[in-house]
This record gives sequence, structure tokens and C-alpha cells, in this order.
Amino acid sequence: MGIRFENVNFIYGMGSGYEKQALKNVSFSVEEGEFVGLVGHTGSGKSTLIHLMNGLEKPTSGTVYYNGKDIHGQGKNQGAFLKELRSKVGVVFQYPENQLFEVSVIEDVKFGPKNLGLSNLEVEKRSFDALKLVGIEDDLLDVSPHTLSGGQKRRVAIAGVLAMEPEVLILDEPTAGLDPAGRDEMFALLKKLRQERETTIVLVSHSMDDVAKYADRILVMNQGKLVLDGTPRQVFAYEEELCRIGLGVPEATRVLHLLKAAGADLDENGITPEEAAERIACWIKK
Ligand code: ADP
Repeated sequence: MGIRFENVNFIYGMGSGYEKQALKNVSFSVEEGEFVGLVGHTGSGKSTLIHLMNGLEKPTSGTVYYNGKDIHGQGKNQGAFLKELRSKVGVVFQYPENQLFEVSVIEDVKFGPKNLGLSNLEVEKRSFDALKLVGIEDDLLDVSPHTLSGGQKRRVAIAGVLAMEPEVLILDEPTAGLDPAGRDEMFALLKKLRQERETTIVLVSHSMDDVAKYADRILVMNQGKLVLDGTPRQVFAYEEELCRIGLGVPEATRVLHLLKAAGADLDENGITPEEAAERIACWIKK
């Protein structure tokens, strides 16, 4: 069932005289098990959308549903539902390593599941499982997080969210500041999460190449509005529209579009380097 937004508006500073409408009539859904890329220029409303997805903020109007239930509905157990929602929809904010604060790696990872009121045994199990999943070795469990490398710190911070065993994982630019090896490890982790836990993933990214490669679907935000919603192939067919709002298309798509515009008789509908190579090879053989 997943997450559904229905005609959602969100205004910061309502009644303060400094209102700022961050979301304008946004409707979409994220289905269970999907990998959704969320793209948009700075200020387009992506962070606000994330806050609404896990109930940190309430829409000014419109409704957010999780598994078919209005997350701000008036039911008797609404408080408990919202608390549960925050563990089911985990958010990894930008530079999550800045939030590490416990004396050791293992204590930091345990913090989230401990707050869920689970037994000690369950907290330990989830924390060890999460650290294994992100590839942190046992010999690092008792060291201070501050002695780790940048990439390791980030993986520990992500393990802290994974230890709550979320059904949906939202990540805001998880590869920002990582070297190419760190980026590859991050995407390998997301792939493993889908395979082993069937986690639904929402990835906020500035890289059109990354979302083209990994996402099943892309949501494009501009000035608080959802302007495109479709498969990567559908979305990247709108190169002009994307450029107009300060975004681009994957390198592979750009090359194919340029060749087509220059008169090459080829299929311009490719989004990955492999597809571009294949289309160009077909054209050369003609
Ligand atoms: P993004 O994550 O795409 O950069 P945001 O959701 O952070 O976009 O911001 C959307 C709009 O809301 C922007 O115009 C931003 O300036 C404004 N905004 C964000 N947070 C606040 C806030 N706390 N108070 C007032 N305006 C805000």
C-alpha cells in the first residue's frame, strides 16, 4: 500500500505574516517495494515532502496516507500510530554522521530501537544485524564513532535507522561528499536492502545518472509543485522542461538527444551509458 499524498499543501509560518507555501497541491503515491527518485532544485520542496512523509509535519491542507490510513486522522490510537509511523518510515537526513553522539558505535546504533520499547535481546539483535548489513566489522563495535572514517561514520548512522527495521527508507543525498568507492558501497547497500528486506526506498538526489540507473520511478519537484511523475525513461524524455527548471538529464540521454538533433538516425530513448552505447552501435552499423 505504501505512502499516498492527496492534494497536499504546506505553508510555513501560517499566520505570522511571513507565510511561505512550500508545497502546492501535491498528489502521488509510493508503492510498497518501489525505489523512487525525488529530484528538484534547492527550495523546490523536497525536504518539506520528506518531513510530511514520516509525520514530522502536518499538511496545511490535504491528506497523507500510510498503508491506507490518514496519518493525522482523529482515531483513538492516533498518537501510537504516529509514533509507530516514525519507526516504519525511516529518514536518513543529509550528513547523518553529524548526529552521532554516543560513546561507542554499538551504543549509537542501539539508540533508535531502544526507544521503540523493545526487549534488550531484540535491540541487540537488530543493531548487530543492521551493522552487518552496512558492512561494519565487529572489531569496530566498541570504538568511538569519532575515530572512524567519513564513509564508515555515515554507514554507522544509517545502521541506526536500519536497526528500527523501517518498511520505507528515505535518504536525502546519501552519497554527498563520498568518494567514488563510498558511492558504490552506498548503492550496493540500497540494492541489498531491497533484496533482503524488500525495503521501499525514496532517494533524494541531484544526480540524474544515479536516479536513471537505480529508480523505478522519478518524482520531479519545482517551486512546490510536482511537475513530473513517471519512469526514468518517461521523465527524461522531457529534456527541455527539465533544463528549464534547472535540472538536466543523464549524460547518456544528453548525448543521444544531441546526436539525434544533429541528424543521426538513431533511437534517442536511452538513459544509461550501456543503452547509449547500444543505440550508437546500432546507428553506426546501419
Ligand atoms: P528543498 O529541500 O527542495 O531544498 P525545502 O522543502 O527545504 O526545499 O523548501 C521549500 C521552500 O520552503 C523554500 O522556499 C524554503 O525557503 C522554504 N522553507 C523551508 N523551510 C522553511 C522554514 N522552516 N520556514 C520558512 N520557510 C521555509
